[in-house]
Parts: sequence; structure tokens; C-alpha cells
Amino acid sequence: MKKHYDLIAIGAGSGGISIAERAAQYGASCAVAESGRLGGTCVNVGCVPKKVMWNAATLAHALRDAPDYAFDVSRNGFDWAALKHKRDAYVGNINSWYETYLKDSEIDLIRGHARFHDAHTLRVDGREVSAEHIVIAPGTRPMLPDIPGAGLGITSDGFFELSEVPRRVAIAGSGYIAVELAGVLNALGAEVSLFLRKQHLLREFDAMLREGLMEAMLDDGISILPMTQIAAVSREGDDKLRLELDNGQHLAGYDQLIWAIGREPNTDGLDFERAGVETDSKGFVPVDAWQNTSVPGIYALGDIIGKAQLTPVAIAAARRLGDRLFGNQPERRLDYELIPSVVFSHPPIATVGLSEDEARARHGDAVRIYQSRFTPMYHAFTSHPVKVSMKLVTVGAREKVVGCHVIGIGADEMLQGFAVAMRMGATKQDFDDTIAIHPTGAEELVTMR
Ligand SMILES: Cc1cc2nc3c(=O)[nH]c(=O)nc-3n(C[C@H](O)[C@H](O)[C@H](O)COP(=O)(O)OP(=O)(O)OC[C@H]3O[C@@H](n4cnc5c(N)ncnc54)[C@H](O)[C@@H]3O)c2cc1C
Repeated sequence: MKKHYDLIAIGAGSGGISIAERAAQYGASCAVAESGRLGGTCVNVGCVPKKVMWNAATLAHALRDAPDYAFDVSRNGFDWAALKHKRDAYVGNINSWYETYLKDSEIDLIRGHARFHDAHTLRVDGREVSAEHIVIAPGTRPMLPDIPGAGLGITSDGFFELSEVPRRVAIAGSGYIAVELAGVLNALGAEVSLFLRKQHLLREFDAMLREGLMEAMLDDGISILPMTQIAAVSREGDDKLRLELDNGQHLAGYDQLIWAIGREPNTDGLDFERAGVETDSKGFVPVDAWQNTSVPGIYALGDIIGKAQLTPVAIAAARRLGDRLFGNQPERRLDYELIPSVVFSHPPIATVGLSEDEARARHGDAVRIYQSRFTPMYHAFTSHPVKVSMKLVTVGAREKVVGCHVIGIGADEMLQGFAVAMRMGATKQDFDDTIAIHPTGAEELVTMR
């Protein structure tokens, strides 16, 4: 007999698990349908394994700096395969933990590919289940370009499969995943070339951040090719990859090519038309401010809505939807403003709020900028000094802080608290009135003139 639930989530990633978890806490009967590994992108091929690799790369930088702090060290090698083995085991433990957690929370896990039969019924590998509320959270997948030989390259998913460091790597893309992978591979021994379709990397970010990162990456020996598009890929006799460029030139001798050119929605075979769910021109599922899709009782959240594609955003949207549907909090919803985020580049970037350009476009002359660039104390001792840059974007007579941007050592752990202050409406005076923590890099944010 067909089982009926209060709520079913499509996808057991950050969003799907979180909505089922919150709904179950209110006593709702819940299930999640999952065709792949529990935990979704973040756990398996995103944040978690990426951060392990970033940590390893950060250690490689520390080893490089160690002699400057009077350590007698020699770096005798790096065993990529051994780290991958450990990383996979760590991820595997998280997968198993989720399985137990779902059981303990009395959330049914339905293994298989879900598709709509009608607005309240799903078919999961032939099995039919229904629910009052269905939450679409299937996430996204990396895209390949439509060019000859594209399949000879890999994506970020393939990066996590690599069992050794490729010697020469081409990375196509300018977003955060492209720069993060470039930084990791470079630090761990690969020769990296980054191909940008346009002039800048991290185009959506404040100019100070993208310029600072470009400079640091070039200093680290990463080759950056702006305005360069790959038009075709082939494999040569020596097994290396040859890239034909759109300007007629070619480059050869690459061991790997990584496409980091964007992600597309996982909506294949969901049979949205059977439920009447609308998508936009790229296949993402538009929602209103309450995560409602075009069909009552069907919601979407996480990467599939096509904005703010970050794990904590998926989780926050899910928990708030759970509170609204089952927790008697009819006005509860996620405010998509002031979302802090970090790019795990080398050095890291942390950002929240408006860039200077966005603020000027919205607020014109009411914008006042405070900016600082300095060599952090750590790097005063090293022969590879990497600068820190910081910017506060303020608006109006009270100088409300509407943007805060940092690139440099420690930025990743620096911004969370400042994001809280900004949500509470902090002004430049509030920053100035806060006692600095000395000696740190973060203290510069409360002492800017
Ligand atoms: C390389 C990389 C690094 C990243 N780093 C960070 C980071 O540092 N910080 C951060 O916040 N975010 C990061 N992200 C983004 C983050 O992973 C996503 O924002 C987050 O995973 C989105 O969660 P979701 O629930 O929307 O989708 P997902 O986590 O992708 O989960 C969707 C799940 O649905 C399943 N599914 C799809 N279709 C079906 C179907 N029809 N039936 C059943 N199951 C289905 C999939 O198998 C998947 O498990 C990174 C992403 C990548 C790719």
C-alpha cells in the first residue's frame, strides 16, 4: 500500500535533510528520497572534502614559511593518495552517521530517483509515496561546455576522485570553485593555469578582493589567462591534453583539465509537468519569499532555487520552512540579505553585504568607504609575505556598515561575528567603540580611519 507522509523531501543533501529533521522535531511524519550518497554535495563533493584539501594546502604554505621562523624542516613529499584515503573514510563516516541519525529521528530514507506522479505523489524507483507537503531539494551538478572533447576534462566531482597530484593542470572558470581548486593544486605541487573567459576572476565580488586574490595567485606561481576560452580539447599521443583556444592558438602538455564553469539544476527526470511546477529558463525552480513554488504544497530550497548557493543557506531556509509549516510560526522565513561567505582561496576571502560598486549604484554619494592594506605580523617574518586587505562600506549620515570585505590570512575565521553586528545594524561608530583584540589582523576592522 502507498505510504502517506506529512512531508517528503526530494534529496538528502543540506536542504532536504534539514527540512525533514525540523518537521520531524514537531512530530510530522517525514521521508527523504535520495538517489546518491547521504549528505549531498557539501558532504561528498563540496565543502567537506574541499576543506580537507584546503587545510592540506594551508599546511604546505606553513611548511614553506617554517624556516623563516627558524625551523629546520625539509619537505620530503606529499602523499596525495594517503590523504584521499583518509578523507574518503571521513566522508564515509559522515554518510553512515546520517543514516543512523535519520533512523533515530524516525525519518524514512527512500533510496532511489524520485519523480512526480502528481502534486502530492512521488514515484521513487517504481515505488509510490505521497505527502501533504513536498520539498524539492535536489541540488545542482557541475556543467561541461558544449565543445569537442569537453569530456576529456573533469569537474570538481572528478577532482575529488583524483588519486595523485596531476603535474600540469588547466582549470577553466573564474568562480569560487575554480580559484579554490587552483590554490589547492598549486600548493600541493601542481603547475596550474587558470583560464578566465572574461577579464576578472570572482566577478561578483568587491574589486579589492578580486584584485588582491589575482595578485596573490600570480605571486604563488599560478598562471592566469584572462579573456581566454577553450574551444576544443583533444588527447595527444603522449596522453597529454591539448587545448585549442578561441583565438586560434593552442596549448598542450596538460595532465588534467578541470571545468569549473558553473552548475546546472538537478531537475532531469523529475517530471515537474505532472505536478505543474514551473521552472525558469535555466531549469531552476523559482520560489516566493516563503519557499513556495508555483504549486500549493510544493516548496523548493537550497541550490535548486538558483541563488545564494551555500550549505548554511539551504539549512536555514529548510529550518524556517519547517517552523512555518509545522511549528505554528506563519511569518517565519529566510531573509536572503547579508549572507556572509568565505572563499577558501590562498589567502582566504571573507565577505558580507554590498560591494563598493553595488553600494554606490544603490546609494550614490551617501556611501563612504574605509579601506586598509597591510602586511600581517605573521608575514613580517616570512620571505613570502602575503598582504591583508580590508574594506568597510558604509551608508548615510550614521555610517551604517552595509559591506565588510577581507582578504588575507585568518579572514575565513574573522567575519562571522562581524556579520552578526551588521545584521543588528552596526554603524562605523559601533565598530570604533569596540575594543580591539591585539595583536590580530581582525583588530584593523575596528581601528580604520
Ligand atoms: C566544490 C564545491 C565546494 C563547495 N564549498 C562550499 C563551502 O565551502 N561552503 C558552503 O556553504 N557551500 C559550499 N558548496 C555549496 C554547497 O555544497 C551547496 O550549496 C549545498 O550542498 C546545497 O544543498 P542542497 O540541499 O540544495 O543540495 P545538495 O547538497 O546538492 O543535495 C541534493 C541531493 O539530492 C539528490 N537528488 C537529486 N535529484 C534527485 C532525485 N530526483 N531523487 C532523489 N534524490 C535526488 C542528490 O543526489 C543530492 O544528494 C560547495 C559546492 C561545491 C560543488
